[in-house]
Amino acid sequence: MKPAGFLCNIDSLGRIVIPAPVRKAYDLEKGDAIELFSDEDGIILKKYNPACIFCGGMDSISNFKGKVICESCIKKLSQIAGE
Ligand SMILES: [Zn+2]
Repeated sequence: MKPAGFLCNIDSLGRIVIPAPVRKAYDLEKGDAIELFSDEDGIILKKYNPACIFCGGMDSISNFKGKVICESCIKKLSQIAGE
C-alpha cells in the first residue's frame, strides 16, 4: 500500500471527501459504491464492481471466495470440471 498523496479529515458524521484527482484517476462518480478492505496496515477503498470476473455480466451474480461470478459462467466452469 502506497500513499496517494492526500490527507482527508473525517467530519462529525464520519465522512471523508475523496479528492477530485483521486476520484478521476479511479473513475469514481457520484452514486458509485465503494467497498472497504482492511488489513494490519489500514483501510483500502475500492470501487465496487459487481460484474462477473469472467464475462463482465451482471445477471444472477454471486460471490465465490471474494470474486464475483455469474450463474452462466458457474455452469460453464462446472461443465469443464466435469469433463
Ligand atoms: Zn460470467
